[in-house]
Amino acid sequence: MSVRIIFIGTSHGVPEPNRRCSSTLIEVGEKRYFIDMGTQSIEELISRGMPVDSVKGVFVTHMHGDHTNGLISFIDLCTWYFKTADPLIMLPEINAVEVINSWLSATGSGPRTLRYEETKEGVCYDDGTLRVTAFRTKHNRCSYAYIVEAEGKAVMFSGDLAGPSKDFPETAVKTRLDLMVCEAAHFSALEYEPVFRSSDVGKVIINHYAPWNVPNIMKLAENLKDVVPVRMATDGLEIVL
Ligand SMILES: [Zn+2]
Repeated sequence: MSVRIIFIGTSHGVPEPNRRCSSTLIEVGEKRYFIDMGTQSIEELISRGMPVDSVKGVFVTHMHGDHTNGLISFIDLCTWYFKTADPLIMLPEINAVEVINSWLSATGSGPRTLRYEETKEGVCYDDGTLRVTAFRTKHNRCSYAYIVEAEGKAVMFSGDLAGPSKDFPETAVKTRLDLMVCEAAHFSALEYEPVFRSSDVGKVIINHYAPWNVPNIMKLAENLKDVVPVRMATDGLEIVL
């Protein structure tokens, strides 16, 4: 079975005309998982004919709106309409559940409560298909990178970082990874060069990048062309591992 990664939203903190905010879908067989839901990911699922109850987990890197603004619509629709859906939603800040439940109560949505857990460092999820390990980062008071493993493949999602030199998960550099998905909204993408040179990684996708960083990403790809393929994500990009 292959692991398919679909980039639903690849923009930085705000939407761009052709890029939505952060959301990435991981598909393993008939099971689906999300890293972040900063856009209306449920609409994308339905447009693609993917059953909503095939979503088994949503892993939020941090609570900023560009990573969470699509969660309410997903949760709301799972609560009263897609009642067979039973995803585990992992939130770095569990107090958000009170806010979610208050919002649902105000909208008059049904009483069904979904499953929530607070993200902690270490292995935070394993359903026998996908294993997820969380690494604390310094982007904000409670932010995480994730390494996901399935079917013998391993992928790191950086979430947002304080910077590659001071805030890149050491384990990710030391582990053989098939893919790294790294942000480039908060520092020059060229700062990644030494990290990628010392990593054992099959390919790199730069995601969540600001337009000003595009020339830096292109330069990074050029500098590393003999080391590792580096490319930019755009909405709809699919990678099969
Ligand atoms: Zn962000």
